[in-house]
Amino acid sequence: MFQNKINNYRYFSNKLKFCCKEYDYFIYGKSESGQNLYAFHKGSYKNKQLLITGGMHAREYISSEIVFKLLRDYDLKTGCYFIPIVNPDGVKLSMNGINAVKNKDYKKMLLRFNNQSKNFSMWKANVRGVDLNLNFDAMWGESKYSKVVPGASGFAGEYPMSEKENLNLLNFIEKKYIIMSLAYH
Ligand SMILES: [Zn+2]
Repeated sequence: MFQNKINNYRYFSNKLKFCCKEYDYFIYGKSESGQNLYAFHKGSYKNKQLLITGGMHAREYISSEIVFKLLRDYDLKTGCYFIPIVNPDGVKLSMNGINAVKNKDYKKMLLRFNNQSKNFSMWKANVRGVDLNLNFDAMWGESKYSKVVPGASGFAGEYPMSEKENLNLLNFIEKKYIIMSLAYH
């Protein structure tokens, strides 16, 4: 059944399915918990490309909705890649709560990171407690807000690009001629 309210991850998985039928799509890898990572494309593949991403920070999943809408409305010739959900595990966790996590080890670990609270609505990180936005190989570990342990936010990971979501994203876009990237938060 299709849900209209953005209060369950099913809303986004339905959107992803729909977009795969409507637009050119790429599965550029898997998340830490094994979900597909989706990119969509509109416009020409020649020359300069744009990149628009959303859903990096779990609780900011409204940014995914914005990127889905931009994808729908985009009608320029310049090619553009759209990645509505950079962090599908985190978004799912934030929307659906801990019961959405099937893997028992992850479940245990996440509850520990979240001080045994089952409320993950304020979660920003991925399913390993790494803040993906701080995990890139750019001034890694230099943020004054960095935390030294995994958790809801602020942990940059054990080393730069340690997370599958980021590594796959980098591999996907590296050889593309992207001249501008917009990240919705
Ligand atoms: Zn953010």
